[in-house]
Amino acid sequence: MTASPVPRPGSPTTRIGIIGSGHVGATFAYALLRSGVAAEIVLLDADRDRAEGEVMDLVHAAPFERPTRIHAGDWDDLAGAAVVVMAAGSGQRPGQTRLDLARRNAAVVADIAPRVAAVAPDTILLLATNPVDVLTHVALATSGLPATRVIGSGTLLDTARFRALLADALDVDPRSVHAVVVGEHGDSEVPVWSLANVAGMRIRDAFTAHGEPDPDAVMADIFARTRDAAYRIIERKGATYYAIASGLVRVIEAIVRDQRTVLTVSSLVDGAYGLHDVCLSLPAVVGRNGIERVLPIELDGAELAGLRRSASVVRHAIEELASGEVAGP
Ligand code: NAD
Repeated sequence: MTASPVPRPGSPTTRIGIIGSGHVGATFAYALLRSGVAAEIVLLDADRDRAEGEVMDLVHAAPFERPTRIHAGDWDDLAGAAVVVMAAGSGQRPGQTRLDLARRNAAVVADIAPRVAAVAPDTILLLATNPVDVLTHVALATSGLPATRVIGSGTLLDTARFRALLADALDVDPRSVHAVVVGEHGDSEVPVWSLANVAGMRIRDAFTAHGEPDPDAVMADIFARTRDAAYRIIERKGATYYAIASGLVRVIEAIVRDQRTVLTVSSLVDGAYGLHDVCLSLPAVVGRNGIERVLPIELDGAELAGLRRSASVVRHAIEELASGEVAGP
């Protein structure tokens, strides 16, 4: 099923593949449809009915949106995709350890990544499945794609949450707040307070100017709410998907339009800050080639120590995964 017009043979098309049509995949598909960035969206899911149902619903929105061809597909339909987004796999279930989740989703990624690379060798693989940094490493190892074209959503979402909460507290547009969260997408993530600013004004000064008597306490609370946001949302509604969907669209736009946007996404770090063979987030220039380069931002001593701790958490998980049995998907 498609939302017409179907591209004519030979016409250029920006095809985006989405593997996993659950909360994240389907919401991302809808956000992508609304963005007008893709000419064609292909949805895959192990549950074919699920993908087809989402496609039918999305196609019916077509008269209100920009023309986009949307269909449920199979592996071959990913051929020529500019980007394939991986949103398959489960979230953490009650009682399930992080390692159990990692094993389960690693098996899914290890199965899917080589298939994607075989059918779309020039694609960029963008992962959202958790634990995203570890799985970016798995995708890199199993796909054979170059490191610049295997990207995890990483702290894209955490940085967005951080900026949104800071903006709310400072009563300014979140786009006017420049601040990043680096490291693992998870409990060990690191807020880079030393470089956070509003229009060049240091963030602590911005709080003081806004009449905040105890900026440090407010800032600590904002970071705790950033780091723990997923837990709070999942407690209330079972899953998170809107903000990650918007973030994924932003990455797609940066790639497809070669915008060279600076985004905190996860990629292989091998050498920077003395870190080796680990995937985590740093501010990266994202463009047509995927990760164009990583910006060597200057971190203060505590931030650098935090980043190293965060890297060791991810590295430990990679090693734990490599040493254990991988569960069936
Ligand atoms: P969901 O259960 O709603 O959907 C997952 C979908 O994946 C299901 O439709 C399932 O059928 C499909 N699937 C499972 N194995 C598959 C396979 N081998 N091939 C194809 N499809 C397969 O889950 P969700 O809420 O959409 O979350 C998906 C993942 O995204 C989870 O790992 C979650 O933790 C993660 N997530 C990441 C972020 C982030 O910031 N990186 C944010 C939110 C969620």
